[in-house]
Amino acid sequence: HPALALHDVHFAYDPRRPVLRGVTFAVPHRRFVALVGPSGAGKSTVFALVARFYEPDAGAVVFDGRPAAELTRAACRGGIAVVHQNSHVVHGTLRDNIAYAVPEATEEELRRVIELARLEEVVDRLPGGLSAVVGERGSTLSGGERQRIALARALLVRPSLLLLDEPTSHLDSINESALTTVLKDVAQECALLVIAHRLSTVQHADRIVVMRDGRTVAAGCHEELLTRS
Ligand code: ADP
Ligand code: ADP
Repeated sequence: HPALALHDVHFAYDPRRPVLRGVTFAVPHRRFVALVGPSGAGKSTVFALVARFYEPDAGAVVFDGRPAAELTRAACRGGIAVVHQNSHVVHGTLRDNIAYAVPEATEEELRRVIELARLEEVVDRLPGGLSAVVGERGSTLSGGERQRIALARALLVRPSLLLLDEPTSHLDSINESALTTVLKDVAQECALLVIAHRLSTVQHADRIVVMRDGRTVAAGCHEELLTRS
């Protein structure tokens, strides 16, 4: 079974105005799937349904072969980590931020996510390495570093499914390409679903699903979609 599958999902916030009108795609385990499409296509709404903030009006959301409707919300959310566009806003120290999700995280666990999110260079810059992370203020970090901290924080919970909403929205092109590479490695650990408005952000995705007007209208790898459009 894929980690996540949506089958012909329909949804409306307001019954007079349908937002999702047939969304079908799957995210296999340890695969990187991207959801792209113009603003208003319904991408964030798909995330809200996967996180079970809302239930579909028709169709099904299925986790690892088990229909969401048969599971409690807590059971569905247990294995899911979500990083929103603005999750990277940090106030405390770097360590506070990374350990926020799992306060009792061991040094070994912190090292693992720091490595996975390629935060070593941030940590190395601090005199004393990881132990000095305790003193580093979030405000001195760049936007790209902050987005990677949000990612590290999400990975600390060892999710089976990781949802990232526009993870590069605040990045310049150099940081964007760095994060793009990180995503490829992250997918070695868990199923990854990333919302993007630019195809370049998700060029390493195993599969790109295109949404338009509340429907999934195409799917393929980066090259396939480029040659078709
Ligand atoms: P493709 O066939 O090109 O992979 P589709 O949009 O047809 O793309 O399907 C995407 C994924 O959604 C498929 O891998 C499949 O597992 C799942 N899927 C689609 N429709 C259904 C369905 N009616 N029942 C079960 N799984 C489905
Ligand atoms: P995308 O993420 O692709 O930009 P959204 O899912 O945010 O698309 O929005 C799809 C449509 O749903 C838009 O018309 C938007 O105005 C509407 N919408 C999104 N969130 C809400 C909400 N909480 N209540 C009512 N309408 C919403």
